Amino acid sequence: MNNFYPPILQKLIKALSSLPGIGEKSANRLALFLISKVSLCELLGDLLKELPYKVKLCQICRNFSEEHLCAICKDENRDPSKICIVESPWNLSQIEGVGIYRGYYYVLHYLLAPREGFGPQELGLEGLIRLIENRPIKEVVLALSPTLAGEATSSYIAKVLENYPIKITKLACGVPMGMELQYADTLTLKRAFLGREVLKGTTR
Ligand SMILES: [Zn+2]
Repeated sequence: MNNFYPPILQKLIKALSSLPGIGEKSANRLALFLISKVSLCELLGDLLKELPYKVKLCQICRNFSEEHLCAICKDENRDPSKICIVESPWNLSQIEGVGIYRGYYYVLHYLLAPREGFGPQELGLEGLIRLIENRPIKEVVLALSPTLAGEATSSYIAKVLENYPIKITKLACGVPMGMELQYADTLTLKRAFLGREVLKGTTR
C-alpha cells in the first residue's frame, strides 16, 4: 500500500483490491483513473449505494430482479413445459444469448461443495419442486458447468427428481470437461444445448 497517497485514495485502493480478480496493481490503476472522472465517480457511488437494496431474487426462479418477478417469469409467451437449471444469472443470460431456448429457468446460485459449506440445503430445490408439481413441466434441462461440482449437483438434482414424470436432460459435452460454463462461447453452448443428452425419459 502506498502510504504517500491521501487516506481516501488508500481506502479506495484497499476496497477495490478486495474485489475478485483485482490485485493491488489493478486497484491502483483503477483508483488513479477515477480521480479526475467526476461524473463516473458520482454515478458509481449512486449505483453502488443502491445495488444491494434494489437487486432481489425473483420469487419464482431466483433470477436477479428489481421486482417480485423477473422479466423472464413475467413473459407469458415462453414454453411452460421446460425449465432450465443454471448456476447463476450470468449463465442464464448466456443461454438467452444463444437464442434457442424459450422455456423458463431456475437459478441455483450455488453448486454442491460440502467442504465449503454448500450442501443440498443451499441449492434451494423446494422452489424447483414446487414448480414441477404445479406447472405442466415436461423437461428439466440441467445446464451446469461440466466441473466436478457441476456434475455432482446435476446428479443430485436428477436423483431428487427421479420419481417425477418428467424428462431430465443435460447439456452435451460440447463444453469441455472441467470448464466453467461462463467461459464457453455461444456456438459451443448452442451445440451443447441442441445435443443435450437424456438422463431420464418422460412418462407424462
Ligand atoms: Zn424469475
